[in-house]
Amino acid sequence: MKEAAFYHCGAGGAIICDLCPRGCIIASGGVGFCGVRRHVAGKLYSLVYGRPAAMQIDPIEKKPFREYLPGTAAFSIGTFGCNLDCACCQNDELSGCRHLDVMAAVPVREPEAIVRLAQHYCCASIAFTYNEPTVFAEYVADVATIARREGVATLLVSNAYITPMAAETLFPLIDAANFDLKGFSDDFYRGHCGGRLAPVLEAIRFFFRLGRHLELTQLVIPTRNDSPDMIRAFLDWVGEQLSPEVPLHFTAFFPHLRLTGLPRTPRSTLERIRELALARGFRHVYLGNC
Ligand code: SF4
Ligand code: SF4
Repeated sequence: MKEAAFYHCGAGGAIICDLCPRGCIIASGGVGFCGVRRHVAGKLYSLVYGRPAAMQIDPIEKKPFREYLPGTAAFSIGTFGCNLDCACCQNDELSGCRHLDVMAAVPVREPEAIVRLAQHYCCASIAFTYNEPTVFAEYVADVATIARREGVATLLVSNAYITPMAAETLFPLIDAANFDLKGFSDDFYRGHCGGRLAPVLEAIRFFFRLGRHLELTQLVIPTRNDSPDMIRAFLDWVGEQLSPEVPLHFTAFFPHLRLTGLPRTPRSTLERIRELALARGFRHVYLGNC
């Protein structure tokens, strides 16, 4: 176990995690909502530091990045755990795992080893992906620091549910991010993801202002986050707070997990969204899973 980087001690011997806006209060012996940060004897520890449960070489376009290092391979890693609880998570085997023995059984790969593997397989970048990278932030930071020294780019594929304090440490180490903006309303975040919208917007804006490469993705779920009003609000926010030059990905939903009663996203819905975006001056609009 590696001591966590973002926490403080609270009343009654509890620990308060400062890594994400959830701010879990964790009693001795307990584990935070994400399942991978544990309070042991007055300190908080990451249970997944150095334990990549998934490693794969992917085309960078699969992450998805369409305007960054095109045609290259991304050495992709993920661990267990997540700080959100999306009703249709596609990586729930990793994000939903709460079995400490399963986490402990993953062979250790030190940060140097991850960078060496990326170089060995001629990958231009290392992607932190699959589950939510925020919950393994210490590992991300150490891998990214070495990767930068070695000339390997780093990619964050994230829900952006992170505190400003943690983002200030982590984001400057990252070269490019694709943030998942799940739906443009706080009700949607509360009802479908167990989170809140405002901290996500703050984190995305912060990353953009660092001048790093940014792309955004929204999974379009029929009747839940596909109304023209919600899409317009999303586009207006990106156009005003970021830039219409930010590449946007709209991807099709298919029934999964707790949303098996909904249909797949029709191609026509994605086409309609693309028309809305183009009409607002966005030039890089991509449709996925359709
Ligand atoms: S990172 Fe995990 S333990 Fe920390 S506040 Fe978020 S959900 Fe809770
Ligand atoms: S943020 Fe991503 S990994 Fe976490 S529950 Fe949602 S879809 Fe799954």
